Amino acid sequence: MARYTGADCRLCRREKMKLFLKGSKCDGPKCPMESKPYPPGEHGRGRTKESEYLLQSREKQKAKRVYGVLEKQFRRYYAEANKGAGKTGEALLQILESRLDNIVFRAGFAHSRDAARQLVRHGHIEVNGRKVDIPSYRVSPNDIVDVRARSRELTPFVVARAEAGSRQVPAWLEVISSRMRILVHSLPERQVIDTPVQEQLIVELYSK
Ligand code: SF4
Repeated sequence: MARYTGADCRLCRREKMKLFLKGSKCDGPKCPMESKPYPPGEHGRGRTKESEYLLQSREKQKAKRVYGVLEKQFRRYYAEANKGAGKTGEALLQILESRLDNIVFRAGFAHSRDAARQLVRHGHIEVNGRKVDIPSYRVSPNDIVDVRARSRELTPFVVARAEAGSRQVPAWLEVISSRMRILVHSLPERQVIDTPVQEQLIVELYSK
């Protein structure tokens, strides 16, 4: 499965904003955005002409980077969102939010989507009683996502249980920490998705 293997912090610097890709490092003084809040490379501090296309393209890149999705898959998600009756941009975000790695991250079982992806890939997660090791697997309303019984005492999950009271879980999910269980009540509406992306610009880009 293709995935980005470069430095995550470069992606934040490229977008000139924190994308929170590295868990606890993102909130500390070691975050490179604190000391170098400009794009990487020789011309990083130079002035760039902000064309309409550039803004749209940057917004797409930002969404891909936040959710850890590469171009081909992102285009597939867009095509699917575009087929539906609702607003394409909102449907696109909803599709991204419904990925299993995102659910594990949103529930607080991992500090970043990257770490959540690894937990899924290593076979620690099951959906409705069946092991699922595909991070892009999409959950549906009323699905039950569990940490597998034999994995519950592994360090990431012990830490997640200990931190259960301090994390904010979105209202469309319910976490039962004692069982390491996530109940998916619904898929999120746009107003409750806190991803800092202007999805309309992405729609404009792909509509050209
Ligand atoms: Fe982005 Fe986090 Fe790296 Fe800071 S530490 S640049 S927020 S990934």
